[in-house]
Amino acid sequence: MFLFICSAIGFQSFALMYICFLHVILQKLNAMNPKPEIFIICGDLVDAYPNKFPKIRDAQIKDFKEALAGLSEEISVICVCGNHDVGEVPTHQTVAKYNKDFGDDHFYFWCKGVLFIVLNSQYYVDATRVPDLKKAQDNWLDHVLSLEERKKAKHTIMFQHIPWFLHQWYEKNVAIDVKNTLRTKQLVVYECDDQTTDVLLNIEKATRLSMLEKLHKAGVNKIFCGHAHFNCGGYYKNMEIVVTTAVGIQLGQDKHGIRLVQVQENDIKHKYFKIEDVPENINLIDTHEPKDICKETDTPKLTFNGLKMNFFKSILTLIGCTRRSPPPPVYLISFSVCKR
Ligand SMILES: [Zn+2]
Repeated sequence: MFLFICSAIGFQSFALMYICFLHVILQKLNAMNPKPEIFIICGDLVDAYPNKFPKIRDAQIKDFKEALAGLSEEISVICVCGNHDVGEVPTHQTVAKYNKDFGDDHFYFWCKGVLFIVLNSQYYVDATRVPDLKKAQDNWLDHVLSLEERKKAKHTIMFQHIPWFLHQWYEKNVAIDVKNTLRTKQLVVYECDDQTTDVLLNIEKATRLSMLEKLHKAGVNKIFCGHAHFNCGGYYKNMEIVVTTAVGIQLGQDKHGIRLVQVQENDIKHKYFKIEDVPENINLIDTHEPKDICKETDTPKLTFNGLKMNFFKSILTLIGCTRRSPPPPVYLISFSVCKR
């Protein structure tokens, strides 16, 4: 999600910050008792676009994998495909490169009676060069959602990089005004109904509405996303969209951190923690306040005033560092009650 500031200087400058945060997080994970089952990195695994900066990207992938090698073998790592991982307009080459480096871009798995579905959300942003791959994912998703065993799942949880929406399902498309963002050094976004060449923070409305309805109808409970660099989210009917800020660069008021998700027999709780506040024991019971379910008649809550970008200062202090990329949003999953 850092694409709009991803000059070579920009992302290389965050090397030290990224690697430090990642190591601290991995240490915290390893020290947890009990350990979380799954560590999910919710897209933009590396920053350098595959078709623009292949050498830098290869170095970033190497660093990324070396860092993750320090994670306890008791914790499974799940990678989600982001816009930086396959490019804003994916091609067969960039997707094949992703498959080679990280594995499938869409897949599902079971853990303790809970079904997890991972999507490549970039196909919903721009599939003009890979219509066959988008079609294949759509067909695959329909198949997974219709599985008899899926209907018996305790929960169905999805992960994808680009959120369907930021605050409300009926919001307009939200794009980043790159020029004014860089000029004012504050995040500047605008709403639009039509196509834009700027990067969207949510998914285009017509696609969004049809997909949300399909996913809700199929029984998906929660969808965890990244990309926005600030925490937000909302509901479509009773299906929650949770958007978690990045570990690294913040575009809002949140501090660097991760989200912990606790899956219980009849509920899924989640809470965002600053890195220094990540607990050794996960117990989110009674900590998650459910939000009201939004109706279209509700007053829109799209407020971006006050979102400040903190990273220009970081660029100055970290300049000179190389190779590694800004960290993406991450989730930890803990199962407290569910049994396989
Ligand atoms: Zn992104």
